[in-house]
Amino acid sequence: MFAPDPLPEPLAAMLAQVRTWTSPDAHTALASDTAEVRAGWVAGLQQLADAVAAANLAAVAAFDAAGDGQTLHGAASTQAWIRGALRVTGAEASERVQIARASRGLLADPAAKVSDGSLTYDHLRAVERGVRHLPPAHHPAAVTVLTDLAQIGTVGDVRDAAKHLHYVTDPDGSLADSCQQFDRRRLTLAPLMDGMTALDGLLDAESAALLTAALAPFLVPADTGDTRTAAQRRADGLIQIVASAAAHRLLSTSGAERPHLHVIIDPRTPQLTEATPDHIPAILPPGRLPQTPGGPAFCHPAGVTRIACDAQITALLLGEHGVVTDLGRTRRLFSPHQRQLLALRDGGCRFPGCDRPPAHTDAHHLISWLIGGPTNITNALLLCRHHHRHVHENGWTLAPTDPQCGTNGPITVNGPNGQQLTSHPRAP
Ligand SMILES: [Zn+2]
Ligand SMILES: [Zn+2]
Repeated sequence: MFAPDPLPEPLAAMLAQVRTWTSPDAHTALASDTAEVRAGWVAGLQQLADAVAAANLAAVAAFDAAGDGQTLHGAASTQAWIRGALRVTGAEASERVQIARASRGLLADPAAKVSDGSLTYDHLRAVERGVRHLPPAHHPAAVTVLTDLAQIGTVGDVRDAAKHLHYVTDPDGSLADSCQQFDRRRLTLAPLMDGMTALDGLLDAESAALLTAALAPFLVPADTGDTRTAAQRRADGLIQIVASAAAHRLLSTSGAERPHLHVIIDPRTPQLTEATPDHIPAILPPGRLPQTPGGPAFCHPAGVTRIACDAQITALLLGEHGVVTDLGRTRRLFSPHQRQLLALRDGGCRFPGCDRPPAHTDAHHLISWLIGGPTNITNALLLCRHHHRHVHENGWTLAPTDPQCGTNGPITVNGPNGQQLTSHPRAP
């Protein structure tokens, strides 16, 4: 660790003073003071820490611009000097230098706001991390909207909003990220020596939202004498869901009410098309938090079109000022009668070679309901969840061989790597 000797004069005096605040005497004095005074210290010290972080950025930027790491110690870069002299990880050192450089340009406005106390340093870092993944042409507009949002929201809000921007400004790149995340999903059940089983796993955002929604009712204590922890209620809820599914022979969703998902549809947002820089202020209008119960970054637009095919969704339409103006179940789901016809006609998943029974399938709209596709038999076919994902997220396309027959006739299935297959109804 590099220890400057002597410390620059104003820093030495300030450091000596700050150190007195951690003494046992200072603790006793605060403990006997009023709640308002203690709150003042907690909030005031946060401001001080952020102002110091902003001053640190200015110092790193000047140090970096002058090449001092090289001059003083022959370091290969400012990052390398910081890593060695301040004993931080390489990733942390790189991020500090990156933010310090950007604070003289792209991030000048949020960096000034950290200094004057209207933003925390953690917010600034969330803005930088959020912008980093966007196409460069979108950076200035994205910094502006995320900085506005950072002044009213939490670091988590900024992170979610940045993810949402990533989805709409770079659909291809973000879809690859989203698919990679999905590939990392896993659930392991490890029996332990004492008869318990350890359950461990990772879920993609959409699956996690579904599980969270399904478990939510179980998190409410059963009565005032319910002393179970939240984790225990969650475990009980999961088993309850599995048990009732088994009891009702509901290994699929037929006949059962699915847990609800909410999808917010903002008519001004180019959800399903590639956004241009001009769209960014409309995607995240200044002065309001994104209003999505499942989080604004809940799922990729490609996932929204899949969910819209067959999930029990409550669509919330956003009006003029971002308030919910229309709330209702849409007429998008296939009726039980239509489902029976589809089960008879398709006999299960229509993907060539798949033998999943009707009970394990979704009814896929060939032309998405979101862009006006009708909820009728010739626009629908059954796909298991795995193959449904293929069609919406993995680049497979379906087209009726004879447009007159729609899905009553054969379907040409094209794969992302040039594969071509044909799907026939089992009972035409
Ligand atoms: Zn679909
Ligand atoms: Zn299938």
